[in-house]
Amino acid sequence: MDSPYVMERSLGLIHGEPTNLRKLEARLEDFCELVRGEGVDETDEHAATRRYVELLADAQLLDLLVPGEHGGLNPEVSATQVCLARQWLARESGALDTAFVMQGLGSFPLVLAGAATLAKEILPRVRTGATICGFAITEPEAGSDVSNMKTTARVVGDEIQLDGMKWFISNAGIAHGYSVFAREVAAGDEGDATYSAFWVSADTPGLRVVPQRVIAPHPIGEVHFDGVRVPSSNRIGARGQGLKLALSNLDQFRPTVGAAALGLADRALTCTVEHLQNRVQFGKPLAKQQGLRFALADLVTAHTAAQLLVYRAAGAKDRGEATSQQVAMGKLFATETAQQVIDRAVQSLGGRGVTVGEVPERLYREIRALRIYEGTSEIQKLVIARELFRPPA
Ligand SMILES: Cc1cc2nc3c(=O)[nH]c(=O)nc-3n(C[C@H](O)[C@H](O)[C@H](O)COP(=O)(O)OP(=O)(O)OC[C@H]3O[C@@H](n4cnc5c(N)ncnc54)[C@H](O)[C@@H]3O)c2cc1C
Repeated sequence: MDSPYVMERSLGLIHGEPTNLRKLEARLEDFCELVRGEGVDETDEHAATRRYVELLADAQLLDLLVPGEHGGLNPEVSATQVCLARQWLARESGALDTAFVMQGLGSFPLVLAGAATLAKEILPRVRTGATICGFAITEPEAGSDVSNMKTTARVVGDEIQLDGMKWFISNAGIAHGYSVFAREVAAGDEGDATYSAFWVSADTPGLRVVPQRVIAPHPIGEVHFDGVRVPSSNRIGARGQGLKLALSNLDQFRPTVGAAALGLADRALTCTVEHLQNRVQFGKPLAKQQGLRFALADLVTAHTAAQLLVYRAAGAKDRGEATSQQVAMGKLFATETAQQVIDRAVQSLGGRGVTVGEVPERLYREIRALRIYEGTSEIQKLVIARELFRPPA
């Protein structure tokens, strides 16, 4: 498969001569080839995800998601490197990308605020794939408005009891543990809106999973908590810090959603160019039609701009300088642009574009959720606009 040439140029622009990133790209390229050779059957989403986690762990790619003190590759998790990984992995398979990133999204609250003993117990296992992770915040009445969550946490002796349910939880049913966010209430104080976070082992009595299905391969489901009790030591961060922690966690991974979108768009562009060169209609290749060339010129320009925004946000994140606006712009523009690029790929292939099993058809299903999860496009716009109207300091 061709290297995603546009990405290399963007990285060069942003990072100068990024030797370590080029080495990582070479590893990712080899890994994707290995995965292709495996031919994992994604119709069984659970088995496929488990296999992908194993392969990612064997290739030491999960090391990118864990800090050095727990066996990770870098002292701190690098947003730029996670972006690069997601761009390559998503280019290969959306399900592979999900298997990778959920190890980070589900465990990063422990990096940010987990007690030392809990982090020491779980994070090395995340790296080896022995613990598959989930991140549970969304509920039927708490989607974009996460503060409306109803799941409760109560201190009962030296334990915490969780009651309620979450839905649209990636890895539900295969995760060994979840970072769970709940409204912490004291006895007789049901209205209290103090949010807290907890690590919950999937085998805890009272935890039950009901599968859901979305349009592309993605293990996902509802997670019900009926009197689930965990030790107090499973609390992540201080009481009342849960929402802040959830938002920091999402902020860390949001640029990487943009990067996954770039990977899907890279694949679509490669596929479109190849098809237009080979498909002859009216006596010449479709690539000779100026109308089609202009459409692609616009899209590849937007795609390059999307890469600049995503890697600008990731670079700023790694330097501790990122603003929420930069991060939101990267996610918004990359996911919306990828949707357009992929739609053009479908259109360019004509009937083949919507044929089950063709690459554009798969990409068309894979891209859709990225404009929804980890903050919808509309929520990104709220964040971007908020900065415009912030009163001067
Ligand atoms: C494939 C997939 C995987 C997911 N994985 C996870 C996971 O692992 N863990 C987890 O906790 N959650 C997960 N989610 C849930 C996801 O984060 C939510 O679906 C998302 O935050 C949107 O919430 P909602 O679906 O309730 O939509 P709603 O919040 O009900 O929004 C519906 C529509 O209204 C718009 N809207 C809402 N508020 C406003 C506003 N103020 N102004 C303008 N427009 C607005 C939205 O943009 C959207 O278009 C996943 C979702 C999907 C699809």
